[in-house]
Amino acid sequence: MNIEKVVHQHLEMEQYFCGFTPKGKDRTGEPQEQEDTMAVAEKTEELKKIAEQVDQCRKCDLGSLRTNTVPGEGNSNARIMFVGEAPGADEDAQGRPFVGRAGRLLDKIINACGLKRSDVFIGNILKCRPPDNRDPRAEEIISCLPYLQKQIEIIDPEIIVALGAHAARTLLNTTKSIGQLRGQFHEYYAGIGRPPIKLMATYHTAYLLRNYSPENRRRVWEDMKKVLAELGLPVPQ
Ligand code: URA
Repeated sequence: MNIEKVVHQHLEMEQYFCGFTPKGKDRTGEPQEQEDTMAVAEKTEELKKIAEQVDQCRKCDLGSLRTNTVPGEGNSNARIMFVGEAPGADEDAQGRPFVGRAGRLLDKIINACGLKRSDVFIGNILKCRPPDNRDPRAEEIISCLPYLQKQIEIIDPEIIVALGAHAARTLLNTTKSIGQLRGQFHEYYAGIGRPPIKLMATYHTAYLLRNYSPENRRRVWEDMKKVLAELGLPVPQ
């Protein structure tokens, strides 16, 4: 048995399902693979810089109220990027996104998709917790959004999944309701000279917990199945 070949095949398989193989990019030749590896390391470094900037940020009042900033975490080369609204109490305490009840449900959804949390990147519109989990204010979004925009630019995901109305409306620059937006692909404007990124809007997991019904659960699952199909990943039934 050629051990090197087996290891190589195993790594290729791992990488494919872990989001390291962007669709349409040639990853057959060795030099290209090395380039991609370099690019991933650079992305990780760039994301770290953003997190450091967030840690220093005092652009809005939330900066003086937070316990920890929650810049976001995950695979810097992810094919899917989830974007929520803002950290809650658990996230503020731990400095990590989606670690409370809503986060555990998101983990379940990710796993049901045949993926791991470490395959995707998870971020938020706001990087600091609004007091009493109130809705983000316009001036907070305006201050904070450039961090998320930069994260999206670095990660360059194939699909953004906007969780809930605040994320979907902010990223699509619209006032439409989540009911109108969910279930179909939209285009996130990624900046001059950059192709738009497909965006799927769906219900926030906190909304799903508050308004649990088989119908709502099915809607989110249908939305995620569209994401998997678009990425050419296996769609569980
Ligand atoms: N809700 C969000 O929108 N983001 C989190 O990180 C946690 C809960």
